[in-house]
This record gives sequence, C-alpha cells and structure tokens, in this order.
Amino acid sequence: MDRRDFLRRIRKLNVWSARGERAPHKPLLLLLALGRLQRGERRLVPFEEIEGPLTVLLRRFGRPRKVQHPVYPFTFLCKDGLWEVPAADRVPRTAAGSFAKKPLIRDAVEGGLPETVHRLLLGDAELLANAAQLLLQAHFPESLHDDIRDAVGLRSEWLVRDAQASARDPNFRSAVLRAYERRCAVCDYDIRLGDELLGLEAAHIKWHAAGGPDRVDNGLALCGFHHKALDRGAWGLEPLRQGFRIVVSSEVHGQSPALDWLRDFHGERLRRPLLAHDVPLAEHVRWHRRQVFRPPALATG
Ligand SMILES: [Zn+2]
Repeated sequence: MDRRDFLRRIRKLNVWSARGERAPHKPLLLLLALGRLQRGERRLVPFEEIEGPLTVLLRRFGRPRKVQHPVYPFTFLCKDGLWEVPAADRVPRTAAGSFAKKPLIRDAVEGGLPETVHRLLLGDAELLANAAQLLLQAHFPESLHDDIRDAVGLRSEWLVRDAQASARDPNFRSAVLRAYERRCAVCDYDIRLGDELLGLEAAHIKWHAAGGPDRVDNGLALCGFHHKALDRGAWGLEPLRQGFRIVVSSEVHGQSPALDWLRDFHGERLRRPLLAHDVPLAEHVRWHRRQVFRPPALATG
C-alpha cells in the first residue's frame, strides 16, 4: 500500500449513511491506533488492552447509547484494509458477524494497523497527521477536535485541511450572528472587546461533518461555552408549537455555581431569530437529539 492508496481508504471510511446516522466506531479506533503509533507503542495490541480506552472514547464522542460495542470496529475495520487481526480465522463469531468477545479476551487476541500501513506511517509523520485530520474533519465538529486528539494522545504538528471536507460557506457565520442579533441564543451572552464580538460563535445544529447545511435554519448563535456543550450533547432542543425549548442532559455534573447556571436553562425557550424563515428546521433538531444529545434530560420541574 502506498501513500495515495492509504489516504483513499481513509476517505472511503468517511461515508455517512443516508439517514445521517453517526458511525464513529472505526474512526475512533483508527485515531486511537494513530496515537499509539505516534508514541512508539507496539503495533499489535490485545483486544482486552484496547477495549477500555475505546469504550471511553465511544462513550465520550460516539452516539449516546446504553451499551457501546468496541468489538465492532475491532472486527469490521479489517474489511477496509486498515486493521489486522492475525488470528482472525481462529476466533469464533457472533450472529452479527463480529468476533465473540469472550474468546477475544480468553485467547488474548491481538489487532492493529496492518504491517504495511504501520511501516508507511512510521516514516511519514505528516501522513499520519494528515490521516488523523481527515478522520476528525469527516466525523466530528471542529469544536471537539482538540478534545479527541487529547483523548487519543495525538500530537498534531501538521494541520492539513481537506479542502473538500471543509468547504464552508463564508457567509454562514455572519448570517447566523445577525439572525440572532449577535447574542447567544441560550444565555444572551453578547460581550464585545472594542467593536469586536468576543467568543460568540455560529454553531451548526446538524454537524457540518454529518452533512448539515451552512444555512441559518441549521445554525445558532452561541457563546463559546454553549457551542461546545451543544456539540458534546450536554444540551439539546425540543420542539414547541412555536419555536423550541432547551433541554439539559442529566449527565452534566459539577460543584460550582456554574452548574446551577447551566441547569437553569432547562425548559427555557430558545431565543428566536429575527426572521421566521431562519427558525431551525425540525429535522436538524431531531438529528441532534438522536445522534448527539446525551439522555436522559433533566426532569422538568
Ligand atoms: Zn451562552
């Protein structure tokens, strides 16, 4: 496998289902493997050793679900030519086609990047950073990239942008901020430094990475905190007859007064944009609620 072939395989992973279901399993396993490689760790790792960190990643950055399945990418990434389980033929499978977990652990079955990929990346730090960036851009909003890099232990000296993945409408930001009168749609934050807005951002409700459009009806003006918290699923939206109300996840914890500050928005109305046609589209809100928001919501008091 050469450089081009490798990147082609990475890009091929970056395909979303027609229904916009998030598929973060394979990218997260790959990012974890890239981090290991960068730290000079062994190519092959027993499933048991990678299960814990991968489960944590899936819980933090994957789709919210009760049970996570780290066995899936450990099994199915092999088909993409980007993962290798040398003992694959000897491991029993489940009805769903994945490796059965018990024997994986009992027999200390190992998996890792294929030898050719490993060698390619060892000699090419820029290619490694490039691949990581492609995976991040295709599957996660930018506000989460640093968190994910930290979580998998990836340093990124090279930030190579994929022109296709990040083709953005340059007017999106200004149009969204204008629509919400340059204040956070949740907390009214509107601080400026001199003439310039300070920390007010245009967020996508349905992630750009998931095919969410650069349109005001898929955007919200949010302070930096509410933007990040939206992208992590700490809060979401619920439709009212007109507009939306804010729902806060019961998974949000803390001890400072900031916790009450955040939770007090639960049940509040989301600020409405100046023009009716800029109101968020219900389908984008539904996508966020299903794919990103961390249930259960706080009880409504
Ligand atoms: Zn805010």
